[in-house]
Amino acid sequence: MLFRQLLDPVSSTYTYLLADETTRRALLIDPVFEQFERDRALLAELDLELSLTLETHVHADHVTAAWRLRQALGSQIVLSRRSGASGADRYVDDGDLIEEGEASLIVRATPGHTNGCVTYVRKDYSMAFTGDALLIRSAGRTDFQDGDARRLYRSIRERIFSLPANCLLHPGHDYSGRTVTTVGEEKRWNPRIGGEASEDDFAGYMNNLGLPHPKQIDVAVPANMKCGETEQSAAAHPGWGPVIRTFAGGLEIDPHWVADHHRMLTIVDVREAAELSGELGRIDGALHIPIGELKARAAEIPRDKPVVCLCRSGRRSAQACTILEKAGITELANLAGGMIRWRAGRL
Ligand code: FE
Repeated sequence: MLFRQLLDPVSSTYTYLLADETTRRALLIDPVFEQFERDRALLAELDLELSLTLETHVHADHVTAAWRLRQALGSQIVLSRRSGASGADRYVDDGDLIEEGEASLIVRATPGHTNGCVTYVRKDYSMAFTGDALLIRSAGRTDFQDGDARRLYRSIRERIFSLPANCLLHPGHDYSGRTVTTVGEEKRWNPRIGGEASEDDFAGYMNNLGLPHPKQIDVAVPANMKCGETEQSAAAHPGWGPVIRTFAGGLEIDPHWVADHHRMLTIVDVREAAELSGELGRIDGALHIPIGELKARAAEIPRDKPVVCLCRSGRRSAQACTILEKAGITELANLAGGMIRWRAGRL
């Protein structure tokens, strides 16, 4: 199975990508609205087709990307029936199997943080995704969204701590950069519910956390009750052209589109002068500014048209885009694959 752990640094939310390496079909657990472009780029770069998005619960601290991903990629939305949310394609209950080859998961109801919380467990019990029920050396707060510390105690003790001691536990959040734990570790070391903690001990701890009201709750919960549906369009790219944001964070554009639309663009070739007469040739009308001079000469680039940077392979020109972005150019992209792909495509 292919596995990736992804972080939204604003809400400290972990999103998990699981995929069957043979079928290339993937699922995402707890995708974050603002990380839609990142997740889509990673799926594309790893040659994966997103079949499902799964929520561990209705989140109060971020809006899910489930609806946006379904709009863009046709993925189906999976959610616990007891979440009470509308708009999912499939509602799951305790014991249900979510079949996706090597990435298949079993649903375990683990209410307490919210009513509808579930933990997704791999079929071989090697890993589980606990959402906000059990966190690393912690547990999800129980003071809003029908939270109930005593229910959470029983969920963790009976439904999570009953997994094998070496089962890896991947939480929905961590606020200190910890990424993974195991059942055995949490049974021993979790300060809220590990060791000899009784239900009363746990409830006493949880009911006296004194945490501030979650900042996003008034926005996030209503949006997540509709699986993250928004008025905002799921447009694939900014208006001027089919620009793709890569997982590395750069903006790339397809050379065929550039060839068809070069009159409406400013093309900036950032190679060294000697390379222009080489076998890869050059694009007529391109502005030539070697990358080493770009920062100082950025003002020479007209601002009335979108800018496409190019070099030999598309590496230096990616850095050129970063330089021009800092110089205030907003409609900007890197020619994907540079002159090598341009020539290979006979453009
Ligand atoms: Fe939560």
